[in-house]
Amino acid sequence: MDFALSEQQRAFRDSVRGFAQKHLAAGALARAHDPAHPFDVARLMARQGLLGITMPEADGGQGGTLMDAVLAIEAVASVCPRSADVVQAGNFGPVRVLAEFGSVEQKARYLKPILAGDTVMCLGMSEPDAGSAVTDLKTSAVADGDGFRVNGTKVFSTHGPYASVILAYVRYAPGLEGIGSVLIEPEWKGVSFGKRSRFMSGEEWVQIYFEDVRVPRENVLLGPGGFRKQIAGFNVERIGNTARSLALGRYCYEAAREWALARRQFGRPLAEFQGLQWKFADMKMKLDAGELLLYRAAANADRGMPSAEDTAIAKAFCNQAGFEIANEALQVMGGTGYSQEVLVEYCVRRCRGWMIAGGSIEMMKNRIAEGIFGRSFSQRPEGKPG
Ligand SMILES: Cc1cc2nc3c(=O)[nH]c(=O)nc-3n(C[C@H](O)[C@H](O)[C@H](O)COP(=O)(O)OP(=O)(O)OC[C@H]3O[C@@H](n4cnc5c(N)ncnc54)[C@H](O)[C@@H]3O)c2cc1C
Repeated sequence: MDFALSEQQRAFRDSVRGFAQKHLAAGALARAHDPAHPFDVARLMARQGLLGITMPEADGGQGGTLMDAVLAIEAVASVCPRSADVVQAGNFGPVRVLAEFGSVEQKARYLKPILAGDTVMCLGMSEPDAGSAVTDLKTSAVADGDGFRVNGTKVFSTHGPYASVILAYVRYAPGLEGIGSVLIEPEWKGVSFGKRSRFMSGEEWVQIYFEDVRVPRENVLLGPGGFRKQIAGFNVERIGNTARSLALGRYCYEAAREWALARRQFGRPLAEFQGLQWKFADMKMKLDAGELLLYRAAANADRGMPSAEDTAIAKAFCNQAGFEIANEALQVMGGTGYSQEVLVEYCVRRCRGWMIAGGSIEMMKNRIAEGIFGRSFSQRPEGKPG
């Protein structure tokens, strides 16, 4: 068993970090406080080969592994936490489901501009009455001539306010097997948006309404029975979310470590107070443990999808650890850590969101329990299906 990265992996990580230091270090603070998607960064990353890392070269990707994508997102986050979202959008998000299951025409129309850094897509999965219980979703797709009519409401979609295409989970028929997905363009008749709202992180989202939206058959991504494939793809999104949690925790840990060496109180550096040393020891243990779980999930996936169990374990642990580390780092940095002059408070707010987004920590633990006991546990009242 070898716990070290290969020489090639180290070289790739170092080259991405070099790119980030050269192009992204300046402006990292401003980017964190700007809700607009940094398309300038996306175009730069596209030219650098950092979008579509795991996607086939025939689709405009790099043909790499999930581990390569994880190394890239970590390296970018270590310099500019906000720019890690660009790596997410171009590698881990709904874009990966499109690359995996989309038709040649769908990829030409939607994937190409995303991999060029010109556009992003958003995921319309959550609904007002279907959050953790995602299979309760009601957005319907009813056959209509050579296509479908879609009706429903989506909430919380990251990139929703400016995405060029929405990957919407829809229901063709009752039950789990009735769920699939379609690709909807925001300009289409019947698509409308609610008032822009903000998460605690500063990211914007909007409620999306579909009212009798006509979706041509060519825009069906997955037909009935597609739910399991979508969730398999969604596990990649969870790995990106896991990697960013840990990476932002590490960013804060590094900032706090340097602070503790430089800042003096009571005539000595903070690093000499045992009360703070133990905080750093806890942070370091969590970072090392989280990294092993994250890398296991990513390395086991190679060029495919990560296992649901590896992903759930890594995500639940790293979401919790990332937040706790960032929060403790803020404490170590005192008033400065709490100030918007440094990125630590931003990282705390971002890490808090990933404890909910992409399947909450509680839902991940439900999945882990299924593996432990070798059976599924319905979360519904007795007698209710699903
Ligand atoms: C930052 C952020 C970005 C997001 N981006 C997107 C996006 O791009 N696209 C999209 O479609 N959605 C997105 N979401 C929505 C996200 O997927 C949901 O918030 C999440 O699935 C939880 O659903 P909910 O908010 O409705 O909470 P609920 O499902 O109402 O849950 C409330 C609480 O109850 C707990 N809970 C619920 N059921 C159980 C159970 N069976 N066992 C134990 N605990 C339980 C949950 O863990 C949570 O703590 C985003 C959310 C956030 C915070």
